[in-house]
Amino acid sequence: MIQFRDLQKQYAALRADIDSAIARVCASAHFIGGDEVSALERELMQYVGATHCISCANGTDALSLALMAWELGPGDAVFVPDFTFFASAEAPALIGATPILVDVDAGTFNIDPRKLEQAIKAVMEEGRLTPRAVVTVDLFGLPADYPAIRSLCDTYGLLILEDAAQAFGGSIKGQKAGSFGDISITSFFPAKPLGCYGDGGAVFTDNHAWATLIQSYAVHGKGTMKYDNVRIGMNSRLDAIQAAILRVKLAAFKDHELEAVNGVAEYYGKGLKCTGLRLPVVPDGYYSSWAQYTVCLPEAIDRNALQKRLKQQGIPTMVYYPKPLSQQPALENTAQWFDDNGVSEELCRTVLSLPIHPYLETEELDQIISAVSEFCNTMGGNEGSQYD
Ligand SMILES: *Cc1c(COP(=O)(O)O)cnc(C)c1O
Repeated sequence: MIQFRDLQKQYAALRADIDSAIARVCASAHFIGGDEVSALERELMQYVGATHCISCANGTDALSLALMAWELGPGDAVFVPDFTFFASAEAPALIGATPILVDVDAGTFNIDPRKLEQAIKAVMEEGRLTPRAVVTVDLFGLPADYPAIRSLCDTYGLLILEDAAQAFGGSIKGQKAGSFGDISITSFFPAKPLGCYGDGGAVFTDNHAWATLIQSYAVHGKGTMKYDNVRIGMNSRLDAIQAAILRVKLAAFKDHELEAVNGVAEYYGKGLKCTGLRLPVVPDGYYSSWAQYTVCLPEAIDRNALQKRLKQQGIPTMVYYPKPLSQQPALENTAQWFDDNGVSEELCRTVLSLPIHPYLETEELDQIISAVSEFCNTMGGNEGSQYD
């Protein structure tokens, strides 16, 4: 059976090391914090190329912790792509800031720098909110357009919070996702490129003062010691069993998984070239960690029918995402957007994510590619077909 993301096959491959890592923590009875957690933070920091890594309970908390360190709140505008997972906008809304939803680029699915600048200017003209930060999302594993975004943020005095929840292992010219933001975050939700066996997350930054604040906010606003509470914080810690599992998984990720998943994407690229589908774009110098392999269907292809046909053939697919954030009821009166989010809306109607993970085999890939190609041919989505 083809799995959308095969965590069972991964466990089978890494089982001996994962089981002994869990047993090691149980034997030590050191379940919160401790050596496993600090060792993992050091390993993550080195991999990403950041000066500080603070692990925490999940990626959503990681976003909140960053915004708390910057003391953002009511009256502040935080720019967020309209096409992303809800948490990217939920975190700024939770602390009372206003998410400004910005349209994305049709090719990369990431925030469109040109529309970002228009939105910043519009907010400034309106004069009600102060532009403070951009949550850049590295969607589906591909880093956002940091050269353009950084230069905009320098011009307008905005901070970058990089949401690399889906992009651990992604890079631009060798620089790793998790190092592009003034503060960056990732998530270890099981299905992410680097996942644990529960919830987990991490914050990265080169700024010592922010790192110290985030460490404090993550543990009840601790001061010099745990029972000295100097600010209102939260309880957001990564537990030692998750850290021990992540250390095993990080080694496999570096050793072969990231490369293998890129091999799968490349195979899809060749196999699906002639289907009439719009395949994911990876700009020159960019490297994706392929949290998802997402194609866009032409008008002639009925997405529901394709999903149904693939399902009959044992091929699971997902729609990431069925709705732009600007259509989420929870954000209706909380967020703000301008009238130009047409690309996000169109993507929500046309995207389809195919199974992808490092343990997908060639025979499985061939099966998926031929099932998709066959459907596209019969549905007439394949204009200018090079297939016979
Ligand atoms: C998964 C995800 C998050 C949240 O991570 P959790 O660990 O599930 O809280 C945030 N942003 C994006 C883009 C995500 O995909």
